[in-house]
Amino acid sequence: MLKRVDIVVVGAGIHGASLAYNLLAKGAGRVLIIDKANVGSGATGRSASFIRHHYSNEICVRIVKESLRIVRGFEDEVGAHVDFQPQPLLLMAGPEHEEALRENVAMHRALGVDVELMEPEVVAGSFPYLDLKGIVLAALERDAGYGDAYQINTAYAERAKELGGELLTDTEVLSIDVSKGRVGGVKTSRGSIEADTVVIAAGPWSRKLARTAGIDLQVEPALLSLGVLLPPRGIEETPMAFDMTAGAYWRPERNGTLLLGTDEEVVGTWNPDNLPEGVGFEFVSSVSRLLGRRWPEMKQARFMRGWVGADGASPDMHPIIGAAPEVEGLYLSTGYSGHGFKFSPAVGKCLAELIADGSYKTLDLSPFSIERYELGRTFKSRYPMAVVQ
Ligand SMILES: Cc1cc2nc3c(=O)[nH]c(=O)nc-3n(C[C@H](O)[C@H](O)[C@H](O)COP(=O)(O)OP(=O)(O)OC[C@H]3O[C@@H](n4cnc5c(N)ncnc54)[C@H](O)[C@@H]3O)c2cc1C
Repeated sequence: MLKRVDIVVVGAGIHGASLAYNLLAKGAGRVLIIDKANVGSGATGRSASFIRHHYSNEICVRIVKESLRIVRGFEDEVGAHVDFQPQPLLLMAGPEHEEALRENVAMHRALGVDVELMEPEVVAGSFPYLDLKGIVLAALERDAGYGDAYQINTAYAERAKELGGELLTDTEVLSIDVSKGRVGGVKTSRGSIEADTVVIAAGPWSRKLARTAGIDLQVEPALLSLGVLLPPRGIEETPMAFDMTAGAYWRPERNGTLLLGTDEEVVGTWNPDNLPEGVGFEFVSSVSRLLGRRWPEMKQARFMRGWVGADGASPDMHPIIGAAPEVEGLYLSTGYSGHGFKFSPAVGKCLAELIADGSYKTLDLSPFSIERYELGRTFKSRYPMAVVQ
């Protein structure tokens, strides 16, 4: 077992792996990733893997733009093959979301995102199979698509190892050693390891670990459910969709099935070590009903299977990224609140800059610092939805 490294990254999910790769690619020193289970065993392995720019805050749009650039050129930039399936995203809004959708689309267009507003008559012409009752406005984002979060997670982990990084799986970090306001290393289920820098990228488990370093991290486990339906016909050409009036979202899969979720994130009451095996019957009936209302022929779709995953949710449903307060050498990358896959390529790159070079270069992620809660600079979403911030 290793006794000393320069940087310990706790968590081999997509954020830990992306960060470790980027640190190693910069020659930031000896990097060790530790996971209490395995690569991609947390939220990442259960993600719906949507990539879309639709957010209410400019910085989130810029992060997704950078992530998408990296994913599209992954082979050249990172050195491994990953899949990205371009697929437009249709956002459908009721009267309560109309103004927000107009404002967000204007902001996205100003930032160079290929998106346009669509009146319901135009949507009906393009997608005649949808029942648009209650929809007053829609937007079609063409710069969207989906990847495979698990595939990208493992690609980053593989590349990190190829660059000399170390990976310890089935090893729990029990506590972070702090002495005189400085990180000294970690205690694990297999012994202690010294390090000058420790990064908590432990998803919904982050709070428990941060407490051992004296940090109160308000990250709670949020439970998200997904279902897979077998549609009665081929749906490859249909866009991915968010029905904001129903709080439901879906996208076609390459194998002809439909992946379906709802906006419901149950925050706080779950133990991420003891998640339900599959989705409950209530989820099956409610998503099927919501989808069937908007897309009537999907009433004939067959519900095949479903699963749940837990992500760490922050108080304003935006991630907490950057240096931890009052503990030199401790960094945070957590609280992705059910939408962090699409951030991971860009965030890993930027956080590696902060750790290795002392400042952000590609994008300034300081708005995501934990201090924002004390300073009253929390993120505000224009939508009352968890998954579309
Ligand atoms: C059902 C579902 C659908 C989603 N859909 C989307 C989507 O379409 N688009 C999108 O952008 N995002 C989506 N997300 C969110 C996205 O998947 C997550 O935000 C992202 O995967 C979080 O990655 P992470 O690395 O922070 O955490 P995780 O993947 O949870 O990794 C954390 C790791 O830390 C390890 N760990 C924890 N504590 C310790 C410890 N003490 N010692 C050692 N290891 C430890 C865990 O074992 C785990 O492997 C979805 C999430 C879910 C659950």
